[in-house]
Amino acid sequence: MNSYDVAVIGSGPGGYVAAIRCAQLGMKTAIIEKYSTLGGTCLNVGCIPSKALLDSSHHYEDAIKHFEEHGIDIPGDIKVNLKQMIARKQSVVDQTTGGIDFLMKKNKIDVYEGLGSFKDATHIIIAEKETTEIEAKNTIIATGSKPSTLPFIEIDKERVITSTEALKLTEIPKHLIVIGGGVIGLELGQVYKRLGAEVSVIEYMDRIVPTMDAGVSKELNKVLKKQKFKMNPSHKVKSVERKGDEVIVKADNKKGEEVTFTGDYCLVSVGRRPYTDGLNAEAAGVKLNDRGQVEVNEHLQTSAPNIYAIGDVIKGAMLAHKAEEEGVFVAETLAGQKPHIDYNLIPGVVYTWPEVAAVGKTEDQLKDAGVDYKVGQFPMRALGRSRASMDLDGFVKVLADKTTDEILGVHMVGARAADMIAEAVVAMEYRASAEDISRMSHAHPTFTEAIKEAALAATDDRALHI
Ligand code: FAD
Ligand code: NAD
Repeated sequence: MNSYDVAVIGSGPGGYVAAIRCAQLGMKTAIIEKYSTLGGTCLNVGCIPSKALLDSSHHYEDAIKHFEEHGIDIPGDIKVNLKQMIARKQSVVDQTTGGIDFLMKKNKIDVYEGLGSFKDATHIIIAEKETTEIEAKNTIIATGSKPSTLPFIEIDKERVITSTEALKLTEIPKHLIVIGGGVIGLELGQVYKRLGAEVSVIEYMDRIVPTMDAGVSKELNKVLKKQKFKMNPSHKVKSVERKGDEVIVKADNKKGEEVTFTGDYCLVSVGRRPYTDGLNAEAAGVKLNDRGQVEVNEHLQTSAPNIYAIGDVIKGAMLAHKAEEEGVFVAETLAGQKPHIDYNLIPGVVYTWPEVAAVGKTEDQLKDAGVDYKVGQFPMRALGRSRASMDLDGFVKVLADKTTDEILGVHMVGARAADMIAEAVVAMEYRASAEDISRMSHAHPTFTEAIKEAALAATDDRALHI
């Protein structure tokens, strides 16, 4: 039987990064993955394929809506070749997951294909064509998550679908009904909206992306409505029925009236659930909480002292970069180091266009905590860079402590917000004040000037360009 210092169960961004860091630190490491490709949800059916389709559909939208204004005439009709779009997405996924194979070899990590299941706290059985058993001094559970649904919905994977199927449709929906106005619903909704589908979003809460800053959620809602999304906040879905090629969704609106939506596809995007099926966690003495998450302490250690857990399968934001940080954290803990993660500074991004990005506290969180704060906001439309590319929607908002001027939160909607938020993360990691940012030179013309202007607005209400 092969013996390891560390076995990692699950090869998503949490698991494969943990394995690499363990190997870098000199531990003999194995990784176990039940699918034939490495990379988990993120690389196979999550972050990477969704961004590939967002990029392709963005190009199409630019071609049909904006090229003419830029002085680019394309003779003949511009058409979508969905088969090619999906094939390109798949080739991006294949290249990316292939890259993880390379990294495992480079770092001398043994890869086992098959479902990993605890025999006890130090032995794991891997079931594939044949059963293998390995011994591990320490194990990192990184088994991730799966889409969740509502009790009365039957996901048939044809017309009533999750994100996994939405990434490989063979036709463009005529009317896509999206249940859940969160990240997946809006990103994948926008892919098919751009390709010509009518998109209706049904959201239980009174606003889309309800966990983000209310101002950001309001701005995104405004922009998406301008893009002809049909938004239905405060709607409680009560039934989803498939009739041939039709899907009929019934919901109660705020007034308690029944509203019927009829479409040809329904995307169920109401969140994801932690995944521990087949893991046999009990055999190792690993406890789950009542939400099905693996319970961990501040060292990400489970109720079994030699077993740790990271990523979507534990508490906290279900984000690839959060899982990665936790993978590094556990590897360094096992090596006797004292790593640290500031969960307040894990950025969140929605890759619609305009993009949405945020880090730190929202205004509501600051109000609830009784913090005396000030706000500096700057509209993207006031930037020369935005006018040059015609990306006029959105704003940057900087929230800073009223007394100390320390930046407490940065929220933005706008072109390239996903990349711009890194500046705010760096600033906040170093506990910068709004004045610090406002005194730093920002290249002109760039979208990042909006961060400087918002910081100036927060410092002394002295933005320069509004
Ligand atoms: P996962 O990536 O879920 O990996 C877990 C792995 O463990 C899987 O491969 C699974 O097969 C394997 N596994 C499970 N049980 C066993 C077992 N018993 N034995 C062996 N293997 C097992 N996050 C972002 O930060 N940015 C984005 O842009 C983004 N976009 C997304 C888009 C979509 C459509 C979806 C669905 C998710 C997106 N996410 C995004 C979320 C992101 O994918 C997850 O947060 C991330 O993948 C979690 O990483 P993980 O390592 O915890 O688990
Ligand atoms: P989510 O939590 O982002 O959104 C789910 C939405 O569904 C929420 O707005 C919620 O209020 C709503 N909802 C819940 N129950 C409902 C009901 N009965 N009827 C109507 N609406 C209901 O979840 P998601 O969009 O499914 O994404 C799952 C996870 O994947 C998220 O945690 C997210 O962080 C991650 N993800 C991240 C990215 C990214 O970082 N860009 C992209 C995709 C997914």
